Amino acid sequence: MGEKTQNMGSRCLHRIGFGNDVHRLASGRKLILGGVRIPFEKGSVGHSDGDALAHAVCDAILGAATLGDIGQHFPDSSPQWHNVSSLLFLHHTRELLDRAGYRIANVDSTISLERPRLAPYIPRMRKKLAKALGIHADQISVKAKTGEGVDAVGENAAVRADAVVLIEPLAFKKSSGNRRI
Ligand SMILES: [Zn+2]
Repeated sequence: MGEKTQNMGSRCLHRIGFGNDVHRLASGRKLILGGVRIPFEKGSVGHSDGDALAHAVCDAILGAATLGDIGQHFPDSSPQWHNVSSLLFLHHTRELLDRAGYRIANVDSTISLERPRLAPYIPRMRKKLAKALGIHADQISVKAKTGEGVDAVGENAAVRADAVVLIEPLAFKKSSGNRRI
């Protein structure tokens, strides 16, 4: 167990993180959510592939481990991250988490998008996100809702994603119950 884990773990074994993200929608752009390309007349405007769900999950993980935020690790100004798949961000974030001595217990997320209906794509999103994060699909939940016709989401001008993640120390054993290790 690394020094960082001991410092963090001395207070609490599990840590929670929250992330959210909004991207404008425009014609001529691809709509990619959770690593899945969704056929639609509009797509996300962004420096990378504009995957709001992947970005929200990234920020939640970084937040849980107090590792800063997505803008610090994958700056807009860097050509390295121009037009790349945001699944790479997740893969890299998982490596940072690993180095900090933590792993993901579970992720819950919600995408807010007026159209199209996302339900048919959710199983693939969960698989792609899980693979990028090195976890099982049953550790990641993706939900979808509309904006009820209100605000930028409701007007189909933006896509929003919110995510929470629970992390636990790598050395944490489920069989040890709530005892500290
Ligand atoms: Zn984003």
